[in-house]
Amino acid sequence: MIEENVKKLLEEIPAYNAYGEKVTLVAAVKLQTADSINRAVRGGITDIGDNHVQEFRDKYALIEGKPRRHFIGRLQTNKIKYLLGKVDLYHSVDRYGLAEELSKKSEKAGVTSNVLIQINIGNEETKGGFPLEEAEEAFKTISALPALNVEGLMAMLPATGNETLLRSLARAMRKKYDELNSNGASFKYLSMGMSGDFKLCVEEGGNMIRLGTAIFGKRSV
Ligand SMILES: *Cc1c(COP(=O)(O)O)cnc(C)c1O
Repeated sequence: MIEENVKKLLEEIPAYNAYGEKVTLVAAVKLQTADSINRAVRGGITDIGDNHVQEFRDKYALIEGKPRRHFIGRLQTNKIKYLLGKVDLYHSVDRYGLAEELSKKSEKAGVTSNVLIQINIGNEETKGGFPLEEAEEAFKTISALPALNVEGLMAMLPATGNETLLRSLARAMRKKYDELNSNGASFKYLSMGMSGDFKLCVEEGGNMIRLGTAIFGKRSV
């Protein structure tokens, strides 16, 4: 099932892509066994994203095929040390304190960390990230840190069935991404889209999507 889901998704995704960019599918692997993750990799997954540091550590050596590793969950600064040099892209830089610590610890370890700046596009209290209005300031401050390389923006759309609202938020994200890109940034990724909303996110210009349920089926949490 998992391998077939991946194959179908990889075939399906380009059809939604209105921007002509490569759309990267990141498998969101929280709560999945190493065996399930390896099935997804066999199906064609090249990128996997973890939410929890403990799970990342437990399964790190068990993953086959050397997929690129993403960290997509909320990150506590005291856990950075377990990820340094192992994560190819941190999606969820949602506050200045985290950016500063990640830079400091990366520098000490002699690595550069690739990051995305998380935007709280729905202004939700339960979600981290900078308000959209602060995106430019956050970009300037974070890209000035010595050991970070800012490669784009990340957003989680609110859990609503209101497609008009979702589209307008996704469009606002793409607009900000393009604006910063023509204003000094050299972004490559707009990480936006989960199982419930990835079609519209890709249609509106997301070029990196993070799918869990659509690949692995329903999780208990
Ligand atoms: C769990 C998770 C996803 C995937 O969610 P699905 O709805 O299962 O596709 C994507 N992004 C983040 C940050 C997540 O925590």
